[in-house]
Amino acid sequence: MSPSLHSLIDNGITKGDPNFAGGDLHCKCASDRVTVTLASNVAHNHACGCSKCWKPSGSLFSIVGVVPRDAVSVTANANKLYIVDKEAAIHRYACKDCGVHLYGRIEKEHPFKGLDFVHAELSDKKGWQEPQFAGFVSSIIEQGFQPQGMDEVRSKLRSAGLETYDALSPPLMDLIATFTGKKSGALSANL
Ligand SMILES: [Zn+2]
Ligand SMILES: [Zn+2]
Repeated sequence: MSPSLHSLIDNGITKGDPNFAGGDLHCKCASDRVTVTLASNVAHNHACGCSKCWKPSGSLFSIVGVVPRDAVSVTANANKLYIVDKEAAIHRYACKDCGVHLYGRIEKEHPFKGLDFVHAELSDKKGWQEPQFAGFVSSIIEQGFQPQGMDEVRSKLRSAGLETYDALSPPLMDLIATFTGKKSGALSANL
C-alpha cells in the first residue's frame, strides 16, 4: 500500500471558493478546544514536507497556508497554547494537550513577517483555498522516508495538480530573494 501524502491530496484536490471569507480553526482535543478565528481565506496554501510543520498522523505532508497576521485571533482556550520552538523563525503555537499547531507567527525581521501560517483543515468549513503546490518535498527523506520512493511521491503530487519543489514555489522564493537583495543594498529599494 502506498503511503498517504495527505487526505486532502490522496483522492484528488477539491477546489476552494475564491470568495471564501474565513472561519474558525479548532485543535483536536475532545473538550476545551483551542479556537482560532481567521477573518480571511488562506493564500499560498501548499503541501509542505518539512519537519517543522504540523502533519496529521499518517501523512507525509502538512498542508499550510498564510493569512495576514491581523486576521488571526485566538478566541477560546488560549491558555493551552505554547510555542513549539522559540529559536525557530516561525513561532508555532501548538495545543499542549493534543499537539496540533494552531498558528505560526514571525516576530523577527523576515520576508514573511506579517503573515501567519495556518492549517485550514482544522476548520469544519469548506471553501478554503486548495493547495497550490508542494514545497520542501525532498525533506521527507530526512524524516525517514525511503529515497527510492520519491519518484512515486513526486508523480502522485503532479497527478493531483501540484508542481513539486524542494524549497518553495518560484513566487515565494522571489519574495525571499527580493527581501534579501534590498536588505543588502544589491537590489534597488524603490522597486
Ligand atoms: Zn488540543
Ligand atoms: Zn513546513
